[in-house]
Amino acid sequence: MTTTTSTAAVTTTASPTSLEVVAPDLAALTRPDFPLLAQTACLGQPLIYLDYAATSQKPRQVLAALQHYYDHDNANVHRGAHQLSARATEGFEAARSKTATFIGAANAREIVFTRNASEAINLVARSWGEANLGPGDEVLLTVMEHHSNLVPWQLLAARTGCVLRHAGLTESGELDLEDLRGQISERTKLVSLVQVSNTLGCLNPIEQVVALAHAAGALVLVDACQSLPHLVVNVAQLGCDFLVGSSHKLCGPTGMGFLWAREALLEAMPPFLGGGEMIQDVYLDHSSWAELPHKFEAGTPAIGEAIGMGAALDYLSAIGLERIHAWEQLLTRQLFARLQAIEGVRILGPTPEQQPDRGALAAFTVDGLHANDIAALLDSAGICIRSGHHCTQPLHRLYGLPGSARASLGFTTTPEEIDRFAEELEGTITFLREHS
Ligand SMILES: *Cc1c(COP(=O)(O)O)cnc(C)c1O
Repeated sequence: MTTTTSTAAVTTTASPTSLEVVAPDLAALTRPDFPLLAQTACLGQPLIYLDYAATSQKPRQVLAALQHYYDHDNANVHRGAHQLSARATEGFEAARSKTATFIGAANAREIVFTRNASEAINLVARSWGEANLGPGDEVLLTVMEHHSNLVPWQLLAARTGCVLRHAGLTESGELDLEDLRGQISERTKLVSLVQVSNTLGCLNPIEQVVALAHAAGALVLVDACQSLPHLVVNVAQLGCDFLVGSSHKLCGPTGMGFLWAREALLEAMPPFLGGGEMIQDVYLDHSSWAELPHKFEAGTPAIGEAIGMGAALDYLSAIGLERIHAWEQLLTRQLFARLQAIEGVRILGPTPEQQPDRGALAAFTVDGLHANDIAALLDSAGICIRSGHHCTQPLHRLYGLPGSARASLGFTTTPEEIDRFAEELEGTITFLREHS
């Protein structure tokens, strides 16, 4: 375990942070920063949040950054002849630089702020897709994609006549790289895939996919929503062409996400939405576009939320993504061991033995029982898990499942919470079996 000498993650707050303390147990280190997690549920039971893959909780450093912005600096950005606007713009653009640094981007002009990851993918589909794809051109996806990486391409296919293909899975619930290789041809213009699946939890070999795609002249878009909060993600190392992320999965506010793309691609792409902020000169019948990245940011952006996301990235970086990944790997192994010991539980995706770097979540079914019933009973015991299709309906359909239950972890998760979850799950299963 490496040590960190970092001070408060957020420079705008004078209060000390628990990150100054060095400890291998990241839950013990970070829990004091998350007041929400300290609350009790019904009957005085501790609240146990195991739905980090749906959204993260927010540390007080992020809330303090939002509060500080509205208390001191609130103004519109990029238009200011006054000091408040200058400070708001400075904070907003600093968040862009932090985002670029966080993912290893060459420069901040390559970061386009969006409302969420879904909007970032829609931006690529509308702008790049409509300008570059025609009938017969192919976009290669995978069967494990989140609806956000399926539906925008379906809309694009309906508009342009491009063809969608989908790479399949191996027995263990990982990406079938051979199948993907076989589906790439000179017709392939884009491969768009998730780095860590929000249902299978598998970590996809992006560098190998990039090598195969680039050899065929295709670009690669990476949906990094589930990898950014848990792993070091570096676009230079991955070699991809587009990458999308979401603030709310990264300890940041909702309503905020981003697209990274190579500068040359963004330069060549037409605007996505039109309006204020994205223009250079406007005439009654035509306009010219602002410099990158503003060309893609029409209207007043989510200024406070961007600053909040910047604070969240500072917070994560102060802990260190390597340490987060190492700690969550321990938790994931514990989660799997506990679930595997329960009769009738079947987990989707690779085990930690099959894939040690897999994501910190387990989507599972229980023989003869409905995931919704399990989640509802666990909720009454103060335990928050997800049930349903987790925005991966085609994947569930492939497995012949109406849905699954999913427990997903964060660095604030304690081993005791996993034990308590497993015990309550066992009790829930026994109860439901006896009453069905
Ligand atoms: C959450 C998620 C998305 C969608 O992100 P939003 O920011 O909510 O649009 C896309 N892909 C994956 C893998 C996700 O987990």
